[in-house]
Amino acid sequence: MRIRSIEAIPVSYPEPNDFNALRHLCLCRITADDGQVGWGESVTMWPEASLAVKAIIEGMAQNLLGKDPTHTEVLWQQTKNHAWWYGYGGGIASFAIAAIDIALWDLKGKALGASVVDLLGGPVHERLPAIASCHAHYESIPDMAKETAEWLSSGLQGLKTGFGKRGNARLGYEHDRDVAYVKAMREVMGAKSLMIDCGINVRWDVTTAVRRVRAMEDYGLAWIEEPLGAWDPEGYANLRSKTTTLIAYGEKEWTLEGFERVLATGTVDVVGVDPGRAEGITGFKKVCDRVETCHRQANAHAWSSAIVTAASLAISFASSACKLFEFKPLRNPMQHDLVTRPCDHVDGWVYPPSGPGLGIEVIEEVVEAYRSEKVLDRRS
Ligand SMILES: [Mg+2]
Repeated sequence: MRIRSIEAIPVSYPEPNDFNALRHLCLCRITADDGQVGWGESVTMWPEASLAVKAIIEGMAQNLLGKDPTHTEVLWQQTKNHAWWYGYGGGIASFAIAAIDIALWDLKGKALGASVVDLLGGPVHERLPAIASCHAHYESIPDMAKETAEWLSSGLQGLKTGFGKRGNARLGYEHDRDVAYVKAMREVMGAKSLMIDCGINVRWDVTTAVRRVRAMEDYGLAWIEEPLGAWDPEGYANLRSKTTTLIAYGEKEWTLEGFERVLATGTVDVVGVDPGRAEGITGFKKVCDRVETCHRQANAHAWSSAIVTAASLAISFASSACKLFEFKPLRNPMQHDLVTRPCDHVDGWVYPPSGPGLGIEVIEEVVEAYRSEKVLDRRS
């Protein structure tokens, strides 16, 4: 089997889990000479990043055409080597490497008639607990508690709430309100897992973070995510010495080297990794192996399309470092319309993906409908 064509496809879609904000991804479709197709994705988030990634994928494609798509490790290394000047240390090039790599794994699985999780060595978990990964939608805390109860009524085993998000929830900005929110969630959730994820708009200094986490941990937080952002080794060491809640970060890293730096600080308990950013399934798996060696937890940052969800599921099942899986609680086009059989939980549990490749069937008409050029054209 040989690679016949590689297409980069920027898509734009309204995300109901984020107040219908328009989000952007760059998909990658790799077709083999026998007509089989593999799908990949990069989580570019903004249209200009999607366009840049499209150009880079098209450049990298020149070195991949005619090659055997089952040689995922070799081709991954080759695309990384090609980006030696503009991709050293990560950045936009890592998005392109990610999208190509995920598509190659999908194609490899289809070529060999095996699921990606089997190609990665097989599932180490029989099933994983599923939690809701959400943005709160209401101003009133009782309304937010009602929303949580509704989401968890499907059996989901926990809640990770983004602080500093759009809308009227105003979480992450006031000590008393944040603590009242966590208290209310604990009351409505019983013993289920509760995580708080600080978004880019939350700017706590170390003292604020210590005070806030100490107050919130009275209500049993499973972890606090990015309370001091992507990189603050001294701040994190300080926070860690004064609190007992697990600390999660890492999702903004691009490369294994970046994750090595984070691990070396000794301040991270739960390492977030987005395969649509951190150089695909090959990159994510290498990070998981290191996280496992360091006796830490890895956690997929999968909050985009069903392609990254399927890739994340494959790795999460193939690594003992991964302990749970996140789902967006509201139905959304890139998860539920894009593929014939959306990835979802059953009574709060998710099971290993089956079927060849990523185990998803992408509906081409849906991709066509969400092409960025069309969506942005309609909006202007
Ligand atoms: Mg996060």
